[in-house]
Amino acid sequence: MLPSFFDSLVQLITRTSTDLPPDVRKAMAAALASEERATRAGQALTIIAQNIDQAESCEGPICQDTGMPTFEIKVPVGANQIWMKQQVKAAIAEATRRGKLRPNSVDSITGENSGDNLGPGTPIVHFEQWEQDAIEVKLILKGGGCENTNAQYALPADLEHLGRADRTLDGVRKCILHAVWKAQGKGCSPGSVGVCIGGDRTSGYLHAKEQLFRTLDDTNPDPRLAEIEEAVMDAANELTVGPMGFGGKTSLIGCKIGALNRLPASFFVSVAYDCWAFRRLGVTLDARSGVITSWLYREGDTPSVPMLTPEQLAAGFPRTGREVRLQAPITDDQIRALKVGDVVLISGRMYTGRDAVHAHLMKHEPPVDMRGGVLYHCGPVVVKEGEGGWRVTAAGPTTSIREEPYQADIVERYGVRVVIGKGGMGGKTLAGLKKSGAVYLNAIGGAAQFYARCIDRVAGVSLMQFGTPEAMWHLDVTDFPAIVTMDAHGNSLHKDVEQASGEKLAAVRD
Ligand code: SF4
Repeated sequence: MLPSFFDSLVQLITRTSTDLPPDVRKAMAAALASEERATRAGQALTIIAQNIDQAESCEGPICQDTGMPTFEIKVPVGANQIWMKQQVKAAIAEATRRGKLRPNSVDSITGENSGDNLGPGTPIVHFEQWEQDAIEVKLILKGGGCENTNAQYALPADLEHLGRADRTLDGVRKCILHAVWKAQGKGCSPGSVGVCIGGDRTSGYLHAKEQLFRTLDDTNPDPRLAEIEEAVMDAANELTVGPMGFGGKTSLIGCKIGALNRLPASFFVSVAYDCWAFRRLGVTLDARSGVITSWLYREGDTPSVPMLTPEQLAAGFPRTGREVRLQAPITDDQIRALKVGDVVLISGRMYTGRDAVHAHLMKHEPPVDMRGGVLYHCGPVVVKEGEGGWRVTAAGPTTSIREEPYQADIVERYGVRVVIGKGGMGGKTLAGLKKSGAVYLNAIGGAAQFYARCIDRVAGVSLMQFGTPEAMWHLDVTDFPAIVTMDAHGNSLHKDVEQASGEKLAAVRD
């Protein structure tokens, strides 16, 4: 029974997680070419480009959040879908064991991580029969940061900066622009949106996600939708949200719209936001052996075109000479000297902490002394090495806003001086940073390979009961680059960019 099916699936999962498809590379290369290298946007895009090349060359995950695996499988009539689904699950577990996927499936009631990316609802597998004598498997890996920026609108609606959105195509355009503006850098912009007009709440989101299986450079066969796609692309890139929400010329690299019939009483616009790490690939398989006969989204099995020249890649992080070096533990004076826009290079010990660690620290003392310390919002991919040793294979920042209810208290209680994450935090944290003398640094979201190379060693781990991504890892780093986006004087780049892009949003309302 399809002897090569399992191996083909493992190959597909591995390549999807580690090698961005050509259309996404092309769009990101265009974004990089449009920015000056010495700007915040230029530096962010250069790190992203390096990360894409590093991931491909070492076959490591592009981003540490390898996302929710979603398979769309077309099979000939008579194919055994029960057996195929078992094989998909086995392939997901194997790719997780090999470190190509991070264990990402968590029991929603107990919080326990299954450890192998399997569990109720994980992975997502949709089958469809077709009349061809071949099997087609498409896969998208969509991470949590961008999934959290999805949006669904019920028209008519009043939208901030855009006014009323009616049950018209112009109303749809406004909803999509509003979603891109609301996302700011939280979904690791520049992103892409899949959109569904109509359906019900459930089918609308599903169809929106299905649009992400289209290539970025295709043209919508419906000229009315093609026109809105183009209008959205033009207007969204006027907003200057920019890479990672730092401000800049490219906020969106794709807009793909589909439509479903709806009930007369409902008019939903569902927006599925995907990040720059837009991992989507597919294969066609021989229906008798399961051997890969062709790759989808790629020309044959040709190697990917690198984002950077070997010299650019070897040059590393593009420095301007104005970077500020910080060695942990960090003093109050050093922190108060920093201001929004400064690029810092951190060396010394940092501790990871995301949702479970923050909730824990609200009730318990930390397992380490965090005074003067660096807290990194990160759920790394970590593999065991030798007797009791660990190696981090992917370690980019996770979305920080989830820790907004806790962050100011934790900073104050335990003397944390630096919080690193992505997407920025809110007013409560900003006030807390000012009160306690601390800063928030934005690292480049998704740059998991780049940041893994800044880690010299894993010095230890605490709170392992929360599972690998949620544990508190003790990491010794050298020259870990990040940008001050919230300082100890009450300034926030995120607030400024949101306000400026909101004004630009108002300018494209008609
Ligand atoms: S690039 Fe950003 S939004 Fe995308 S999966 Fe990675 S961390 Fe999440």
